[in-house]
Amino acid sequence: MAEFCKQCSIDIFDQDHGDFAGIVTEKEYKEQKLAGLVLCEGCGNTFVDHEGTCLDPNCLKHHGRVDE
Ligand SMILES: [Zn+2]
Ligand SMILES: [Zn+2]
Repeated sequence: MAEFCKQCSIDIFDQDHGDFAGIVTEKEYKEQKLAGLVLCEGCGNTFVDHEGTCLDPNCLKHHGRVDE
C-alpha cells in the first residue's frame, strides 16, 4: 500500500490522508524532538512529525527546506 507524507498527499489527492500521522506522538515530537523515519511514495525516505508532515530538506521534493 502506498503511503504519503502530508505534503505529497495534498499534492496528489488534494487532501491529507494522514498516512504517517501518529508515527510519533505529539509529545515525543515536541519534547524529545523525535521524528518518524518513513518511506513516502512521493518524496522518498524522509522524516515526518506527529502529523505526518515531511520535515526533511533533503527529501526528493525538499519539503523541509525553509525558503528565505
Ligand atoms: Zn512525501
Ligand atoms: Zn518530503
